[in-house]
Amino acid sequence: MKHDWRASVERMVLTMAGEQPDRVPLTFLASEDIGSRISGLTVREMMSSPEKLADISIDTCEILGADVASVVANPYCGPWEGLAFAKANGLGDQFEWKDYSSPFIREGAVCSAIPDVEQLEIPDHSRVEPWPTILKASAIVAERTGVPANFAPSLTWSSIQMLRGSQAYLDVIENPEFLLALCEKIYASQWDYYEAFCSAVGKPFFMFNCQYGFNRTMLRFEDAWRFEGQFVNRFCKQAGLKLAIHNCGFDPYWNEMVDRHTAEGVDVIMVNGSHPLELDDWVAFREKYPKITIMGASLFVNGELENGRPGDVKKRAKENIERLGPYGRFVLSPVCCMPWRVSLANILALREAVEEYGRYPIARS
Ligand SMILES: [Zn+2]
Repeated sequence: MKHDWRASVERMVLTMAGEQPDRVPLTFLASEDIGSRISGLTVREMMSSPEKLADISIDTCEILGADVASVVANPYCGPWEGLAFAKANGLGDQFEWKDYSSPFIREGAVCSAIPDVEQLEIPDHSRVEPWPTILKASAIVAERTGVPANFAPSLTWSSIQMLRGSQAYLDVIENPEFLLALCEKIYASQWDYYEAFCSAVGKPFFMFNCQYGFNRTMLRFEDAWRFEGQFVNRFCKQAGLKLAIHNCGFDPYWNEMVDRHTAEGVDVIMVNGSHPLELDDWVAFREKYPKITIMGASLFVNGELENGRPGDVKKRAKENIERLGPYGRFVLSPVCCMPWRVSLANILALREAVEEYGRYPIARS
């Protein structure tokens, strides 16, 4: 059956506006692994041209039954930003391609080779591959589906970890000035990415920032704000964008993060995470912040999706829908990217779940 993208767009728009859609939308963070599994191609083959990447991305999102379309060479500034930094600094050999899953940069390699942050070169996102291919593919996907392309920067901690490795945790205590200088470089690089995105795809509606520092398991809140939050906040204000936060850590500072951004003049419109796993906590979040769309909640890729059967996945999805669906502004979404070991049968069970349990009106249980 042909995927009805117009219906998907309407479903998402109504949901985020707090109005009632036909059913709970379903989204995925579709990345290289799932794109490869569905297309049968290696990551390099998928990315051999913008057209091919766009075709595979749309096929993948349609097969999954997603209500958003995005490029499967993950447009968030993760590994590809690592590759761009490595190339810009003559360290392309530190990048590890993989045939059928997401590539990575050797953690810490870029910044251990370049001890002086001042010398770190910022990549030109309009020229350094794979960004031109990814941005062109994003524009094609947006044009063909009508789904606005996702602007997903990564300010700042995941970039810090890629460039500096676990040394960054010691830097917080021993070398904060070095780390702040590195944050400024990452900011400048993400701003360059934003400009390249705007010229290739158009101005985004909001930014979907991958924000990893804000975890109790990683940093104190004040350090997370100092080395990540303040840069995100500044970026939103400078670009005039509202903020959607992705955080797939085990213990995010959700409330504190939202409150601080709000106090400092930035509108948080969406949170995307899998933890806390307790649905009661998400219901409490929902009641405290009725205007923030929850994309995700307790649907963790390494939970039932990895270890259960389709029936277990549907049961968990049903609980999410029954508890959070009635309030509106809820999108069912497994978090984070779907790695190998998560069966296709389990992933596809989510399509059935939104059809079976997600039709509005949904009674409060
Ligand atoms: Zn994630």
